[in-house]
Amino acid sequence: MRISEILSKDRVTLSFEVFPPKTTDRYESVAAAAEHIAAFAPDFMSVTYGAGGGTSQFTADIAAGIQEKYGVPVLAHLTCVSSDRAKVRETIELYKEKGIENILGLRGDLPKDGKLSTDYRYACELIAEIKSMGDFCVGGACYPEGHPESAHKKEDIMHLREKVDAGCEFLTTQMFFDNNVFYNFLYHVREAGITVPIIPGIMPITNAKQLGRSVALSGTGVPASFKAIVDRFGQTPDAMMQAGVNYAAHQIIDLIANGIRYIHIYTMNKPEVALAIKLAVSKMLEIPNEGKEIW
Ligand code: FAD
Repeated sequence: MRISEILSKDRVTLSFEVFPPKTTDRYESVAAAAEHIAAFAPDFMSVTYGAGGGTSQFTADIAAGIQEKYGVPVLAHLTCVSSDRAKVRETIELYKEKGIENILGLRGDLPKDGKLSTDYRYACELIAEIKSMGDFCVGGACYPEGHPESAHKKEDIMHLREKVDAGCEFLTTQMFFDNNVFYNFLYHVREAGITVPIIPGIMPITNAKQLGRSVALSGTGVPASFKAIVDRFGQTPDAMMQAGVNYAAHQIIDLIANGIRYIHIYTMNKPEVALAIKLAVSKMLEIPNEGKEIW
């Protein structure tokens, strides 16, 4: 099923993200965690793509397994910054063979070795390529706090428009911990004439190390209220897990109460986190959406 169709449901959708292993010896345990998460019956699941593309087969296999065994529609990610056109086209063909209809087209982070693709510079070029190769439903990434490489948020939104013009049918956000940042971003995105669904990505932080790593990579701001939680509970795993899930659930409840119709969870491959979030908001997911989409 196409993500565009799923997002037009008359209730709030809940989706989960998982990531593939970096090495073959970890494949079985990661695939098992992904399938465990699929058993919670999200509206769809996304499977990320290893930077550099070396593990593209894992992304395809995990996504296809989720779809075939659990009937959960999948969104397979694909990056282009370190790949040539032949590798990208080969991966798109692989996704097609595996029955994957939805692809998140990304540039990928700039590689540390500095070796850049000579075929692609930006995600919009990859998105156009995917569209030219079949009837895929294609999505892209967006950044409520601005992409770390962008000097101006306005310029970032202008480039976002190019992705949508290239065929992007929905956008998923980078994580954020302050919903006001997201509401402000939505206002500017809509003002720029971008009308596709924007799916907020929420990351439940369940240990202090995870926060440090995630924030360093993405440049996401951490509100004082959340810093206090990590300071107080960061050294007590059970308490931090509970506080992180509750903080994320509170963000989701606020989003739904304010008319947002889609929620995407960065599960970090933790079934217990996916389940805890689903249980915390399940009743709110059953309520029909009111009137027209307001954002
Ligand atoms: P782009 O849209 O190409 O933007 C990158 C930068 O270039 C931005 O600063 C933008 O403003 C600028 N830009 C865009 N077009 C132009 C232009 N025409 N001229 C000048 N500047 C331009 N990484 C992975 O390796 N694997 C994954 O599976 C993965 N999944 C992700 C999922 C989500 C929801 C998000 C938010 C990120 C994900 N990432 C993933 C990280 C992502 O690859 C990085 O954030 C990367 O740095 C940017 O990718 P992009 O597709 O947003 O790039």
